Amino acid sequence: MDFTIPPQLQDLQQRVRHFIAEEVIPLEPLETDDGLPADKLSDLRAKARQARLFAPQLPTEYGGLGLGTMAMCLIFEEAGHCPLGPLALHCAAPDEGNMHLLLHAATPEQRKKYLEPLARGEIRSCFAMTEPAPGAGSDPTMLQTRAERRGDQWVLNGRKWFTSGAQGAAFAIVAAVTDPAVPAKHGTTLFLVDAGTPGYEIVRPIPTMSAGGPGGHCEVTLTDCAVPGSQILGGLGNGFKLMQLRLGPARLTHCMRWLGAAVRSQETATEYASQRTAFGKKLAEHQAMQWMLADSVIDIHASRLMVLEAAWKLEQGSEARQETSMCKVFVAEAVSRVIDRAIQICGAKGISRDLILERFYRDVRAFRIYDGPSEVHRMVIARRIISGERSS
Ligand SMILES: Cc1cc2nc3c(=O)[nH]c(=O)nc-3n(C[C@H](O)[C@H](O)[C@H](O)COP(=O)(O)OP(=O)(O)OC[C@H]3O[C@@H](n4cnc5c(N)ncnc54)[C@H](O)[C@@H]3O)c2cc1C
Repeated sequence: MDFTIPPQLQDLQQRVRHFIAEEVIPLEPLETDDGLPADKLSDLRAKARQARLFAPQLPTEYGGLGLGTMAMCLIFEEAGHCPLGPLALHCAAPDEGNMHLLLHAATPEQRKKYLEPLARGEIRSCFAMTEPAPGAGSDPTMLQTRAERRGDQWVLNGRKWFTSGAQGAAFAIVAAVTDPAVPAKHGTTLFLVDAGTPGYEIVRPIPTMSAGGPGGHCEVTLTDCAVPGSQILGGLGNGFKLMQLRLGPARLTHCMRWLGAAVRSQETATEYASQRTAFGKKLAEHQAMQWMLADSVIDIHASRLMVLEAAWKLEQGSEARQETSMCKVFVAEAVSRVIDRAIQICGAKGISRDLILERFYRDVRAFRIYDGPSEVHRMVIARRIISGERSS
């Protein structure tokens, strides 16, 4: 087993690190919780394009760098040092996961209409699965949104919420039940719904403690919202399979970006502890501080290795479901611990908005809930072990 990073990738990693340090971090403190005003984001992306760092995860024919999943781990981690980093490089959720899905499931016509402008960063997108009770949340088989065939059209009715980025998105990928007579796993379909389609309405952005990117986390209704059959994404009844195709790698890319936030938090804490004095010596000389720094670097190192191993399995063609679930649980919790310790080490300054830590702290809380709460991943991990599907 060889852990050496190929020289070309080391070079790219350094260039991303430099870009984030020189062009992105200086934009802090961030003006808004939702990212940057559109004109400033567009300037930043132009710089990323110029530096040949834009959309690194996309194939070259879509303007990207064609990176594999393991290479993405290193680059997304660098981007994650600032909440704006993934947006600047166009590898932020939910567009990044939606582009991945479109690449694998869209027809040539759908690629032209949706993927191409999305890849160029000209439009935004959102993904609408979650529903308020009694609909789908942790348990996607509880999906209530229905799509009924009427002639050449499908008519959607339902209520979604926490649809990230919905405000201002050009289209939504909506999960709906198309055949209630069969189990949801086989009776669910994904639809591409253009914003502005009659019956598609954004009720409100739901105020949350976590910032997210542009477009908020929205409540959305579909009322007799009719779309042609050509708006089905990836075939009738394939919704669950495709959601897995989207969510598996998306869980991992969230872990990669959050690792960057953890590394930055640790660096911030180390710097503070090395400079600040209390009780006759530097904070960094107090054993309690040293143990926190050590525990955090252990959390970061273990997280990085888990993510890289799961990425390697995905690159080998495995679905790596157990590995991505284990990563999701461990990294979400480990990164939360690292950010929490960093705030403790920085004292009152850690709570202040002079540092990025308070923003990371607010944002990271949701990571233990979205893309499957920790409890649900623990449940499925254990089920695979108990059923004998996995021995470890
Ligand atoms: C910031 C943010 C962004 C999001 N963006 C999107 C998006 O873009 N698109 C989208 O479709 N959804 C999105 N979501 C929704 C997210 O996917 C759901 O929150 C998640 O699937 C959990 O569903 P729920 O919130 O309905 O929790 P519920 O299903 O109501 O569960 C509540 C809690 O119950 C516990 N629980 C559930 N099942 C079990 C179990 N089997 N055993 C033990 N405990 C259990 C867990 O602790 C869970 O947190 C987002 C959520 C957040 C917070």
